[in-house]
Amino acid sequence: MKKDNKKNNNVQKDLIIEFFKKNPNRDIKHPEVVDWVVSTYLKKTGNVFRDPDRAIRHLSQSGFLIKIAKGVYKYDPSKAYKRELKDFTVAQKEIILKEGKCAVCGRGKKEGVELHIDHIKPKDLGGEATIENGQILCAQHNFIKKNLKQTETGKKMFIQLYELAKSERNTELIKFCDDILKTYEKHNINGHIVWNK
Ligand SMILES: [Zn+2]
Repeated sequence: MKKDNKKNNNVQKDLIIEFFKKNPNRDIKHPEVVDWVVSTYLKKTGNVFRDPDRAIRHLSQSGFLIKIAKGVYKYDPSKAYKRELKDFTVAQKEIILKEGKCAVCGRGKKEGVELHIDHIKPKDLGGEATIENGQILCAQHNFIKKNLKQTETGKKMFIQLYELAKSERNTELIKFCDDILKTYEKHNINGHIVWNK
């Protein structure tokens, strides 16, 4: 059932894209596109296109359409999707922020932390501005993510040092590494690098 819905959604989306591609660089009001996609969808599938407005909004949020005014959209082939590589739109941010808490530590406004919107796959690695690629991070975890390479390197290094200290029974060094690695755990940093005590 879910799969069918997804398939239908894709057919609907393709129809809207088709309409706008046939009508590039023109300000188009909702009723014009809605009338066409609803009747075409009915002809093609025999089904009712339930929420075309929502599908159009999604295409605007993803950067395919430019929102000109309330209920007015334009398809500009030279600009479509280009914005996707950049920043989230206001509408996307609102959706992402609904989660209300840091994806790493779960803290939110209640705990008085500042929340940032983060590209899960970073922009400079080709991460797009899609809702799926967005998450909330608190200021602390956003900062750590930006500097992840350094903290990762550090954690791996202290794990190695800890193992070496254990094999040499160097209690002072064991304690030192133990303290540092516990600090990583306490602050929930680089949890994907596992430290076997
Ligand atoms: Zn956090």
